[in-house]
Amino acid sequence: MSDADANDTITDDRIGQIQHRVAAVNREAAAAVAQAAGLSDAQPAVFELAKTHDELVDAYGELRSAIDLIEHAMDDLDAGRETPRKIKRKHAERLEETYDDPVLYLALQLVECNRREWLHASPETNGAHAVRRHGLTENQRKYLNELQNAWDADDRTECVVCGQDLGDPKNAGDPDENGEWVCRRESCRAAHDVDMTVPLGDAE
Ligand SMILES: [Zn+2]
Repeated sequence: MSDADANDTITDDRIGQIQHRVAAVNREAAAAVAQAAGLSDAQPAVFELAKTHDELVDAYGELRSAIDLIEHAMDDLDAGRETPRKIKRKHAERLEETYDDPVLYLALQLVECNRREWLHASPETNGAHAVRRHGLTENQRKYLNELQNAWDADDRTECVVCGQDLGDPKNAGDPDENGEWVCRRESCRAAHDVDMTVPLGDAE
């Protein structure tokens, strides 16, 4: 698709929305400037500082909306261009295959933060390079992998007598009448004095 054709696919509505959002950024930033202008006369300054802060937060919110809207429009126009929004979405899909709940939710939040922190604010750094490749920085990946391993370890079922992992097929066990699990080893069965739902003799 040529640039001329691409320009035909963005609607006047979308152009109007973008112009409206960018104007709102300008308005909120101007309000913050006006608020800050009174700071030197304010005694004490804390209330004026709070109001300036509020105006800046509003400006930041408008700026984020405007950036999102423009990235969205760019994605629609040019399938090949890697916008921060597209990089984030690509990695979010892959992370769903890598991490389980609840580590996945943390990973997705980090990817969204990285979009702002690295792809928008520091696009030429090593961190941004890692985020483009993996969605996450080196430290974040290390941290999330440790968290996933800790979670998996906590999630496993162990023999209440010897402690081995019953998730391994060769260690398969059975629950007792209280719902606690015991492996198939005769010594563990003998040491466990609660009746088993499947007596060892019945096992295949
Ligand atoms: Zn055991």
